[in-house]
Amino acid sequence: MPARRIETGWVVLTSLPNATRPLVNFQFNEFCRSDCAQMTPGLCTRITPTPSGYLHWGNAFSFVLTWLITRKSLGHVVLRIDDLDTARKRPEYIEDIFQSLDWLGLDYDEGPSGPDDFERKYSQRLRTELYAMVLDELRHRSRLFACQCSRSSIQRTPNRLHPEECQKRGLSLHGEGVAWRITTSPRNVIEWRDVGGQQRSVDLHRDMRDFIVRRKDTVPAYQVASLVDDLHFGINFIVRGEDLLASTAAQVFLAEQIDEYDFCQSKFLHHRLLTDDAGSQRAL
Ligand SMILES: [Zn+2]
Repeated sequence: MPARRIETGWVVLTSLPNATRPLVNFQFNEFCRSDCAQMTPGLCTRITPTPSGYLHWGNAFSFVLTWLITRKSLGHVVLRIDDLDTARKRPEYIEDIFQSLDWLGLDYDEGPSGPDDFERKYSQRLRTELYAMVLDELRHRSRLFACQCSRSSIQRTPNRLHPEECQKRGLSLHGEGVAWRITTSPRNVIEWRDVGGQQRSVDLHRDMRDFIVRRKDTVPAYQVASLVDDLHFGINFIVRGEDLLASTAAQVFLAEQIDEYDFCQSKFLHHRLLTDDAGSQRAL
Protein backbone atom coordinates (compact mmCIF):
# COMPACT_ATOMS: atom_id res chain seq x y z
CA MET A 1 0.00 0.00 0.00
CA PRO A 2 1.49 3.34 -1.01
CA ALA A 3 2.53 5.39 2.01
CA ARG A 4 0.77 8.43 0.56
CA ARG A 5 -2.56 6.68 0.86
CA ILE A 6 -1.92 5.72 4.45
CA GLU A 7 -0.89 9.30 5.17
CA THR A 8 -4.10 10.56 3.62
CA GLY A 9 -6.02 8.36 6.00
CA TRP A 10 -4.08 9.73 8.92
CA VAL A 11 -4.60 13.32 7.82
CA VAL A 12 -8.33 12.68 7.83
CA LEU A 13 -8.21 11.00 11.19
CA THR A 14 -6.17 13.74 12.78
CA SER A 15 -8.60 16.34 11.49
CA LEU A 16 -11.30 14.76 13.59
CA PRO A 17 -12.38 16.60 16.74
CA ASN A 18 -9.64 16.78 19.40
CA ALA A 19 -11.29 14.51 21.89
CA THR A 20 -11.39 11.67 19.37
CA ARG A 21 -7.71 11.48 18.56
CA PRO A 22 -6.79 9.29 21.53
CA LEU A 23 -9.57 6.95 20.43
CA VAL A 24 -8.19 6.69 16.91
CA ASN A 25 -4.71 6.00 18.24
CA PHE A 26 -6.03 3.52 20.74
CA GLN A 27 -8.01 1.57 18.16
CA PHE A 28 -5.26 1.54 15.58
CA ASN A 29 -2.54 0.59 18.05
CA GLU A 30 -4.74 -2.11 19.46
CA PHE A 31 -5.10 -3.52 16.00
CA CYS A 32 -1.38 -3.27 15.26
CA ARG A 33 -0.63 -5.33 18.37
CA SER A 34 -2.94 -8.09 17.23
CA ASP A 35 -2.10 -11.14 15.12
CA CYS A 36 -4.38 -9.73 12.47
CA ALA A 37 -1.94 -6.94 11.69
CA GLN A 38 0.51 -9.55 10.43
CA MET A 39 -2.21 -11.22 8.50
CA THR A 40 -1.76 -12.83 5.17
CA PRO A 41 -3.45 -11.55 2.05
CA GLY A 42 -6.87 -13.10 2.06
CA LEU A 43 -8.31 -10.82 4.67
CA CYS A 44 -11.43 -9.37 3.14
CA THR A 45 -13.45 -6.57 4.68
CA ARG A 46 -16.14 -4.13 3.69
CA ILE A 47 -17.11 -0.51 4.04
CA THR A 48 -20.89 -0.26 4.28
CA PRO A 49 -22.43 3.19 3.96
CA THR A 50 -26.20 3.52 3.82
CA PRO A 51 -27.85 6.04 1.47
CA SER A 52 -30.50 7.11 3.94
CA GLY A 53 -28.78 10.35 4.94
CA TYR A 54 -25.55 12.29 4.50
CA LEU A 55 -22.47 10.64 5.98
CA HIS A 56 -21.24 11.95 9.33
CA TRP A 57 -17.94 11.93 11.16
CA GLY A 58 -18.82 8.69 12.87
CA ASN A 59 -19.10 7.02 9.46
CA ALA A 60 -15.83 8.59 8.33
CA PHE A 61 -14.04 7.38 11.45
CA SER A 62 -15.30 3.84 10.95
CA PHE A 63 -14.48 3.76 7.22
CA VAL A 64 -10.99 5.19 7.61
CA LEU A 65 -10.17 2.88 10.49
CA THR A 66 -11.46 -0.11 8.52
CA TRP A 67 -9.47 0.93 5.49
CA LEU A 68 -6.24 1.62 7.39
CA ILE A 69 -6.11 -1.66 9.23
CA THR A 70 -7.13 -3.68 6.20
CA ARG A 71 -4.53 -2.04 4.00
CA LYS A 72 -1.91 -2.55 6.69
CA SER A 73 -2.57 -6.26 6.57
CA LEU A 74 -2.68 -6.30 2.75
CA GLY A 75 -6.36 -7.14 2.78
CA HIS A 76 -9.12 -6.68 0.23
CA VAL A 77 -11.69 -3.88 0.66
CA VAL A 78 -15.22 -4.15 -0.70
CA LEU A 79 -17.55 -1.16 -0.96
CA ARG A 80 -21.05 -2.34 -0.14
CA ILE A 81 -23.82 0.23 -0.15
CA ASP A 82 -26.80 -0.94 1.87
CA ASP A 83 -29.84 0.41 0.03
CA LEU A 84 -32.61 -1.95 1.12
CA ASP A 85 -34.38 0.90 2.85
CA THR A 86 -35.87 2.36 -0.31
CA ALA A 87 -38.16 4.74 1.59
CA ARG A 88 -35.19 6.79 2.80
CA LYS A 89 -32.86 6.19 -0.14
CA ARG A 90 -32.16 9.32 -2.21
CA PRO A 91 -29.86 9.85 -5.21
CA GLU A 92 -28.04 12.71 -3.48
CA TYR A 93 -27.13 10.41 -0.59
CA ILE A 94 -25.61 7.91 -3.03
CA GLU A 95 -23.71 10.70 -4.71
CA ASP A 96 -22.53 11.85 -1.28
CA ILE A 97 -21.08 8.39 -0.53
CA PHE A 98 -18.81 8.47 -3.57
CA GLN A 99 -17.81 12.08 -3.01
CA SER A 100 -17.05 11.43 0.66
CA LEU A 101 -14.93 8.35 -0.03
CA ASP A 102 -13.03 10.29 -2.64
CA TRP A 103 -12.50 13.19 -0.25
CA LEU A 104 -11.37 10.81 2.47
CA GLY A 105 -8.89 9.29 0.03
CA LEU A 106 -10.23 5.77 0.44
CA ASP A 107 -10.01 3.35 -2.45
CA TYR A 108 -11.44 -0.16 -2.65
CA ASP A 109 -10.82 -3.33 -4.59
CA GLU A 110 -14.36 -4.35 -5.34
CA GLY A 111 -17.63 -2.47 -5.62
CA PRO A 112 -19.38 0.19 -7.69
CA SER A 113 -17.34 2.85 -9.45
CA GLY A 114 -20.15 5.42 -9.22
CA PRO A 115 -23.91 5.86 -8.78
CA ASP A 116 -24.86 4.42 -12.18
CA ASP A 117 -22.59 1.41 -11.80
CA PHE A 118 -24.04 0.90 -8.34
CA GLU A 119 -27.65 0.81 -9.55
CA ARG A 120 -26.78 -1.42 -12.48
CA LYS A 121 -24.61 -4.01 -10.76
CA TYR A 122 -24.46 -3.67 -6.97
CA SER A 123 -27.78 -2.51 -5.51
CA GLN A 124 -29.11 -4.86 -2.85
CA ARG A 125 -32.34 -5.20 -4.83
CA LEU A 126 -30.30 -7.27 -7.32
CA ARG A 127 -29.70 -9.85 -4.58
CA THR A 128 -33.34 -10.25 -3.60
CA GLU A 129 -33.31 -13.90 -4.65
CA LEU A 130 -30.33 -14.67 -2.44
CA TYR A 131 -32.08 -13.14 0.55
CA ALA A 132 -35.26 -15.07 -0.25
CA MET A 133 -33.31 -18.33 -0.44
CA VAL A 134 -31.78 -17.80 2.98
CA LEU A 135 -35.13 -16.80 4.47
CA ASP A 136 -36.55 -20.00 3.03
CA GLU A 137 -33.73 -22.00 4.54
CA LEU A 138 -34.31 -20.36 7.90
CA ARG A 139 -38.00 -21.16 7.63
CA HIS A 140 -37.20 -24.85 7.22
CA ARG A 141 -34.38 -25.14 9.72
CA SER A 142 -35.27 -22.72 12.49
CA ARG A 143 -38.31 -21.75 14.45
CA LEU A 144 -39.78 -18.73 12.72
CA PHE A 145 -43.11 -17.25 13.65
CA ALA A 146 -45.33 -14.48 12.35
CA CYS A 147 -45.76 -11.31 14.36
CA GLN A 148 -48.01 -8.30 14.10
CA CYS A 149 -46.68 -6.42 17.12
CA SER A 150 -46.05 -2.74 16.55
CA ARG A 151 -42.85 -1.08 17.64
CA SER A 152 -44.80 1.09 20.08
CA SER A 153 -46.53 -1.91 21.69
CA ILE A 154 -43.13 -3.52 22.30
CA GLN A 155 -41.82 -0.27 23.77
CA ARG A 156 -44.69 -0.35 26.23
CA THR A 157 -43.81 -3.79 27.66
CA PRO A 158 -42.08 -3.67 31.07
CA ASN A 159 -38.64 -4.71 29.74
CA ARG A 160 -39.15 -3.39 26.18
CA LEU A 161 -38.68 -6.90 24.85
CA HIS A 162 -40.87 -8.62 22.33
CA PRO A 163 -43.66 -10.38 24.31
CA GLU A 164 -43.41 -14.17 24.48
CA GLU A 165 -47.21 -14.54 24.15
CA CYS A 166 -47.01 -13.36 20.54
CA GLN A 167 -45.65 -16.67 19.34
CA LYS A 168 -48.58 -18.52 20.92
CA ARG A 169 -51.02 -16.74 18.61
CA GLY A 170 -49.87 -19.06 15.82
CA LEU A 171 -50.31 -16.54 12.99
CA SER A 172 -49.55 -17.75 9.49
CA LEU A 173 -46.20 -16.79 8.03
CA HIS A 174 -48.05 -16.22 4.77
CA GLY A 175 -50.51 -13.75 6.26
CA GLU A 176 -50.69 -10.11 5.19
CA GLY A 177 -48.62 -7.55 7.07
CA VAL A 178 -46.79 -9.93 9.37
CA ALA A 179 -43.12 -9.76 10.23
CA TRP A 180 -41.12 -12.97 10.55
CA ARG A 181 -39.28 -13.45 13.81
CA ILE A 182 -36.79 -16.14 14.74
CA THR A 183 -37.14 -17.82 18.13
CA THR A 184 -34.30 -17.24 20.54
CA SER A 185 -33.79 -18.94 23.89
CA PRO A 186 -31.76 -18.30 27.06
CA ARG A 187 -29.18 -20.70 25.63
CA ASN A 188 -28.32 -18.25 22.86
CA VAL A 189 -25.41 -16.48 24.46
CA ILE A 190 -22.98 -15.72 21.64
CA GLU A 191 -19.33 -15.32 22.57
CA TRP A 192 -16.24 -14.44 20.59
CA ARG A 193 -12.92 -12.68 20.94
CA ASP A 194 -12.44 -9.45 19.00
CA VAL A 195 -9.25 -8.70 17.12
CA GLY A 196 -7.12 -7.12 19.83
CA GLY A 197 -8.19 -9.77 22.31
CA GLN A 198 -11.29 -8.27 23.88
CA GLN A 199 -13.74 -10.96 24.93
CA ARG A 200 -17.29 -10.25 23.76
CA SER A 201 -20.49 -11.84 24.93
CA VAL A 202 -24.05 -11.06 23.90
CA ASP A 203 -27.11 -12.65 25.45
CA LEU A 204 -29.35 -12.63 22.37
CA HIS A 205 -32.44 -13.65 24.29
CA ARG A 206 -31.99 -10.66 26.57
CA ASP A 207 -30.77 -8.10 24.03
CA MET A 208 -32.53 -9.08 20.78
CA ARG A 209 -35.18 -11.55 21.79
CA ASP A 210 -36.93 -13.20 18.82
CA PHE A 211 -35.47 -10.65 16.43
CA ILE A 212 -37.02 -9.89 13.05
CA VAL A 213 -35.65 -11.64 9.95
CA ARG A 214 -38.27 -10.39 7.49
CA ARG A 215 -40.09 -7.11 7.87
CA LYS A 216 -43.82 -6.56 7.56
CA ASP A 217 -43.30 -5.17 4.06
CA THR A 218 -41.59 -8.52 3.17
CA VAL A 219 -38.16 -6.87 2.87
CA PRO A 220 -35.42 -8.97 4.52
CA ALA A 221 -34.26 -7.52 7.82
CA TYR A 222 -30.82 -5.92 8.07
CA GLN A 223 -29.44 -8.96 9.95
CA VAL A 224 -30.30 -11.30 7.09
CA ALA A 225 -29.26 -8.99 4.25
CA SER A 226 -25.96 -8.16 5.93
CA LEU A 227 -25.12 -11.81 6.54
CA VAL A 228 -26.09 -12.86 3.01
CA ASP A 229 -24.04 -10.03 1.52
CA ASP A 230 -21.03 -10.88 3.65
CA LEU A 231 -21.25 -14.49 2.50
CA HIS A 232 -21.74 -13.36 -1.11
CA PHE A 233 -18.66 -11.12 -1.10
CA GLY A 234 -16.52 -13.54 0.93
CA ILE A 235 -16.09 -11.15 3.84
CA ASN A 236 -14.02 -12.57 6.70
CA PHE A 237 -13.09 -9.45 8.65
CA ILE A 238 -15.76 -7.10 9.96
CA VAL A 239 -14.98 -3.74 11.53
CA ARG A 240 -17.93 -1.92 13.01
CA GLY A 241 -18.96 0.19 15.99
CA GLU A 242 -19.73 -1.20 19.41
CA ASP A 243 -23.36 -0.22 18.83
CA LEU A 244 -23.53 -3.23 16.51
CA LEU A 245 -22.30 -5.86 18.97
CA ALA A 246 -25.79 -7.35 19.21
CA SER A 247 -26.06 -7.37 15.41
CA THR A 248 -22.83 -9.35 15.18
CA ALA A 249 -24.25 -11.86 17.63
CA ALA A 250 -27.51 -12.07 15.68
CA GLN A 251 -25.66 -12.65 12.42
CA VAL A 252 -23.42 -15.32 13.93
CA PHE A 253 -26.56 -16.98 15.30
CA LEU A 254 -28.23 -16.88 11.85
CA ALA A 255 -25.08 -18.24 10.19
CA GLU A 256 -25.13 -21.19 12.61
CA GLN A 257 -28.74 -21.88 11.69
CA ILE A 258 -27.83 -22.33 8.04
CA ASP A 259 -24.49 -24.08 8.63
CA GLU A 260 -22.36 -21.19 7.40
CA TYR A 261 -19.73 -21.81 10.03
CA ASP A 262 -17.00 -20.00 8.10
CA PHE A 263 -18.81 -16.75 8.85
CA CYS A 264 -18.68 -17.60 12.56
CA GLN A 265 -14.90 -17.87 12.23
CA SER A 266 -14.66 -14.36 10.77
CA LYS A 267 -12.57 -11.81 12.59
CA PHE A 268 -14.41 -8.97 14.26
CA LEU A 269 -13.33 -5.62 15.57
CA HIS A 270 -15.89 -3.42 17.32
CA HIS A 271 -14.57 0.07 17.79
CA ARG A 272 -15.82 2.62 20.24
CA LEU A 273 -18.26 5.12 18.85
CA LEU A 274 -17.10 8.46 17.69
CA THR A 275 -18.91 11.60 18.70
CA ASP A 276 -17.70 15.17 18.50
CA ASP A 277 -16.66 17.30 21.47
CA ALA A 278 -20.29 18.03 22.18
CA GLY A 279 -21.13 14.34 22.17
CA SER A 280 -23.11 14.23 18.96
CA GLN A 281 -22.42 13.15 15.38
CA ARG A 282 -21.83 15.80 12.75
CA ALA A 283 -22.27 15.71 9.01
CA LEU A 284 -19.07 15.60 6.99
ZN1 LIG B 1 -45.01 -10.10 18.03
